[in-house]
Amino acid sequence: MTRVAFIGLGNMGSGMAANQAKAGREVVAFDLNAEAVARAKEQGMSGAASAAEAVKDADIVITMLPAGQHVSDVYLDAILPHARKDALLIDCSTIDVDTARTVARDASMQGFRAADAPVSGGTAAAQGGTLTFMVGCREQDFAEFEEALKPMAKAVIHAGASGAGQAAKICNNMLLGISMIGVSEAFILAESLGLDAQKFFDIASKSSGQCWSLTSYCPWPGPVPTAPSNRDYEGGFAAAMMLKDLKLAQDAADRSGAPTPLGGAAESLYSELVNRGHAAKDFSAILQMFRGKL
Ligand code: NAD
Repeated sequence: MTRVAFIGLGNMGSGMAANQAKAGREVVAFDLNAEAVARAKEQGMSGAASAAEAVKDADIVITMLPAGQHVSDVYLDAILPHARKDALLIDCSTIDVDTARTVARDASMQGFRAADAPVSGGTAAAQGGTLTFMVGCREQDFAEFEEALKPMAKAVIHAGASGAGQAAKICNNMLLGISMIGVSEAFILAESLGLDAQKFFDIASKSSGQCWSLTSYCPWPGPVPTAPSNRDYEGGFAAAMMLKDLKLAQDAADRSGAPTPLGGAAESLYSELVNRGHAAKDFSAILQMFRGKL
C-alpha cells in the first residue's frame, strides 16, 4: 500500500490528508498541534510523534505549512535526514519562490525528487478533493507527482521548473487582489452616479469589464447569490490570506525588479483592511472598507 506522510493538518491539510486516506493510501499524519493529530487518528489515519517519525518509510511526503520558514525547518530537520531517498517530496504550502527553489535544490543535491505544488481553492476544495495544483518540478518527474496529488485534485498543472508553481500562485493571486479592488471601485462609482447596482452588473458582466471577481465572486451583495458578500463577507478567502499572497508577490517583484505598481497599491489597501481588525473577513469585504462601512 502507498504510504503518505502528511505534515501540517490545519484548515487545508486536514481535509487533504483525509482525501489521501480515502483513496486507500496509508497516511501517517503529524502536526505540532496534538489535537489535529488526534482528529486525523479518529478518521483512520496513523499519528506520528514527530515529523521525522512520520516520514520514515513513506513513499510520498506532503507538507502543508503556514510559511517559508516552517517549510525550510521541517525539510532540513526532519525530511531530508529521515526520508527514504526514493520518496517523492511535495510542498503544497504557499511560500516565497526563493525558499521553494532552495528547498528543492537541497533535496535534489541529496538525491530526492521534490516539487513545489501550491493550491488554488480554499478549505471547501481541500475537503472535497477539488483543489487545483500548480507544480514546479523537473519535466521527467511530473507524471509521478501528478499521480501522488490526484486524490486531492480537480486539476494538476505543470508550471515549469522548481519554484514555478509558487510563481504561478502569487502572480494569479496578485491579479485577483487587483481585480477585486477594481470591481469594488466600479460599484462604488456606479452607486455615487445613481446607477442601479444590478443594472451595472448586468451590463459589465457582458462588456469588456467582465472578470471572475465580478461574475463569480461579486463583492456587491445580490447579483451573485453564492458570493460571500451575501453572507456578511464570512467564510471564503480571508483578507489576511490575500495580504500574505500580495506581500509574497511584492517581495518577489522587488527582488526581480518587475514593476507592479497596482500590486503594491493592493498590498497597502489589504494591509489597511487587516489593520482595521477584519483579517478574517472574506477579501471581497474591501468594498465595504471603501464605502466607509468597515
Ligand atoms: P493553518 O494555519 O490552518 O495550518 C497550518 C498547520 O501547520 C497548523 O495546524 C500548524 O500547527 C502546523 N504547523 C506549523 N508548523 C509546523 C511544524 N513545524 N511541524 C508540523 N506542523 C506544523 O493554515 P492553512 O489555512 O491550512 O494553510 C496552509 C497553507 O496553505 C498556507 O501556506 C496557506 O497560505 C496555503 N493556502 C491556504 C488556503 C486557505 O484558504 N486556507 C488556500 C490556499 C492556500
